[in-house]
Amino acid sequence: MRIYLSRPHMSGHEEARVAEAFASNFVAPLGPQLDAFEASIRDYLGGGLHCVGLSSGSAALHLALRMAGVGPGDEVWISSMTFAGGIFPVNYLGATPRFFDLDPKSWAIDTARLAEELAKAAAENRLPKVIVPTDLYGQSVDLDTLEALAGQYGVRLIVDSAESLGATFLGGRKAGTGGDAAILSFNGNKIITTSGGGMLVTRHKDWADQARFLATQARDPAPHYEHSTFGYNYRLSNICAAIGVGQMQVLDDRVARRRAIFERYRATLERPGIAFMPEPEGYRSTRWLTTLTIDPAETGTDREAIRLMLLEHQIESRPLWKPMHMQPLYAGSAYHGSGVDERLFEKGLCLPSGSDMTDAQQGEVIERVLDLLGRS
Ligand SMILES: *Cc1c(COP(=O)(O)O)cnc(C)c1O
Repeated sequence: MRIYLSRPHMSGHEEARVAEAFASNFVAPLGPQLDAFEASIRDYLGGGLHCVGLSSGSAALHLALRMAGVGPGDEVWISSMTFAGGIFPVNYLGATPRFFDLDPKSWAIDTARLAEELAKAAAENRLPKVIVPTDLYGQSVDLDTLEALAGQYGVRLIVDSAESLGATFLGGRKAGTGGDAAILSFNGNKIITTSGGGMLVTRHKDWADQARFLATQARDPAPHYEHSTFGYNYRLSNICAAIGVGQMQVLDDRVARRRAIFERYRATLERPGIAFMPEPEGYRSTRWLTTLTIDPAETGTDREAIRLMLLEHQIESRPLWKPMHMQPLYAGSAYHGSGVDERLFEKGLCLPSGSDMTDAQQGEVIERVLDLLGRS
């Protein structure tokens, strides 16, 4: 592959931080670099939140769901269009997902439909334990409405902000500050990376304390190993956290670059039959990946033809997430929607969007797509 969808993009600050960790022999899960990384995210997000560095975003979601008390027989209401890591922890805990469609105006969970179903479920005494909306492709969900609904019905809200660190919502509120907790991911393809890692961000100090406890094998205070519950080995390595400290120095630049990449694609490719992901008034997405839909009737081509043509030229692109209610694993699960997400999957494509992509590389992607579309 010559041009990738989204690659790690080092700034040059990271190696010195990793060297500091080596020099002090903190080549262990915990250490000063991890403390510094947690502090840098806390300072960035503001608002008295607690941050716990973890081995992945999926681990963060697993712990958050456990803190919310999710177990067998419970329902978790969740955006259907998401990545595996944003849903599998529901299975780890033996709970049942109920899937929700997107609002076509924002590509965020359809809050009107959610409100309707919450009212019905409340009347029938079968409310979910937790709602898990996804900040899709870097765009915050409607936190005000979701927090109001969660408060009204007394259900927990855990926001999957794995793709949206650096995004803002109405009034400048940052993605990652929502609900009872939000999860972040520092996987290699995300806005910033620690080579692999994640974070739990929560307003509840007891959730953060409990997460630290569970993420280090649930060791009760005792000189020997004493366990009153089971835990996990989920803490972020101090070495990986050192990479994250360096990456946080350039977070805003990375978001600005991804947004510029999106704007150039839109300026050159938008036409009847090609629609880019909307950004509602007052929202600022990270534009983690540039996503667009291609209507075959209007363009005379389709997303698969474009994807395969790009692949022939060593350019990586990818369909949008396949909605979870369409996955064999979740066949027969409850789904509330009109198929907005199904149509996005059918017509949608993610273009190469890494912040390290050069202008010339992006120019090549654009030229090749224009060749296929016919220049008009
Ligand atoms: C990346 C991602 C995750 C999982 O993060 P990992 O760090 O890879 O475990 C969860 N949800 C969404 C929407 C993601 O994009």
